[in-house]
Amino acid sequence: MNKPERRNGLAGKRQPRSRARRRAVIIGGSMSGLFSASFLRQIGWDVDIFERSKVELVGRGAGITTHPELLHALEASGAGTVDLGIEVKKRITINRHGVCIGERPLRQILTSWDRLQNLLRQTIDPGHYHLGHTFVAVDQDAGGVVVHFREGPSERADLLVGGDGIRSAVRAQVAPESQPIYAGYYIWRGAPNEADLAPETLASIFPYFTFFLPKRQQVIGYPIAGFNNDLRPGHRRYNFIWYRVGDAQRLKEMCVDENGRQHEFSVPPPLIRQNLIDEMRAEAAEIMPAPFLDCLNAIERPFFTPVYDFAAPRAAYGRVALVGDAASSSRPHMGFGVAKAGGDAQALAKALRTHDDIDAALEIYNAERQPIGERIMLHGRKLGTYMGVSVNSADDRKMEALLQDYWAMMDWIAVPNFLSQ
Ligand SMILES: Cc1cc2nc3c(=O)[nH]c(=O)nc-3n(C[C@H](O)[C@H](O)[C@H](O)COP(=O)(O)OP(=O)(O)OC[C@H]3O[C@@H](n4cnc5c(N)ncnc54)[C@H](O)[C@@H]3O)c2cc1C
Repeated sequence: MNKPERRNGLAGKRQPRSRARRRAVIIGGSMSGLFSASFLRQIGWDVDIFERSKVELVGRGAGITTHPELLHALEASGAGTVDLGIEVKKRITINRHGVCIGERPLRQILTSWDRLQNLLRQTIDPGHYHLGHTFVAVDQDAGGVVVHFREGPSERADLLVGGDGIRSAVRAQVAPESQPIYAGYYIWRGAPNEADLAPETLASIFPYFTFFLPKRQQVIGYPIAGFNNDLRPGHRRYNFIWYRVGDAQRLKEMCVDENGRQHEFSVPPPLIRQNLIDEMRAEAAEIMPAPFLDCLNAIERPFFTPVYDFAAPRAAYGRVALVGDAASSSRPHMGFGVAKAGGDAQALAKALRTHDDIDAALEIYNAERQPIGERIMLHGRKLGTYMGVSVNSADDRKMEALLQDYWAMMDWIAVPNFLSQ
């Protein structure tokens, strides 16, 4: 592994760095870490990514809705958009009987986390992507940062980029008061194989971005690539998402795993209690239209994800920049998290390219991106009013009422219209 600190012995020392040799240490080897590395490399910085996982990141999450902003960021980063995913041509809403009651034309490419990771990973020299490094602390001085890892030697750099997700350990160092807030609802998820679905399901919902909207619940589905980004008909999957209301006490109960261990935020999918899954399947049988029930029945191990959001008050603290979910994270209703990660990384590199003074550049980055992250988060809350949880203001009630109409849901969910408001 190529470790600059061992190479030049800079740890803990203050050395002036010429512009050509500026270096960033990036924590987190997922979307925002990879985007940051790509864009910083483009402006001539040395970059190293440190990811806590000991093995390559695969199979995380499932479906990712794309938007023009994400496609632009992928092109600009050099990752490109080849074989990105499956294009759907329209959105439909079905009723309890599986009958289509409304449709809206909207072309959208649905991809998967795996495909994005794969494309972005190819922009980074493997020698600068370090697995098995868990960030634990950072020291800052006028010359930059010294970054400490649980597993071993520290790294000296001009800039630390925290791309380590919603529970960011980097953010915990610089803004410990910023904590994700539970939305009061969670999602049951899974992605059945196309080959396991009934012909009626394949004909009625598989080609579309589909909604089923019982009171205070949302079921959404859309096609994504199969394993190893297989886009061939017959080899794809259908991303299944079912939003359910559950207060903090209910979530706590759900976070007791198969072995009786209490988890704080969520349970690793293989450890989710079988009785919870059985209960969920029984409830689904009562309310789901046949095509979505077929999808759920074809998912061997459905898993749940609690919905959280937050926005840190700043996107930069001294020589520490926060990007992606580490800086702010919204409820997944508009599916914009990866696009935001790309936008953060692009803005960071642009500020550093146009300002010689790193501290001034980070101020510019903060001024540009913190308000956007907060705006996206607030918009996610607006869309979340559909679920009828924490609907407090007159505006919230208005939005909640609007979204009870499935035509409005098709217009508002997973589209980036909030950026033009
Ligand atoms: C249910 C759901 C649906 C979603 N749907 C969409 C969608 O349709 N479209 C979309 O654009 N977005 C969607 N998102 C959001 C999207 O997944 C996130 O915004 C995106 O993954 C954020 O990327 P990130 O790199 O900032 O964080 P993450 O993907 O969380 O990556 C953080 C990385 O940091 C590593 N790490 C953590 N701590 C440390 C440490 N101490 N040291 C070293 N490494 C560490 C982790 O292992 C991880 O690899 C969805 C999210 C959810 C929950």
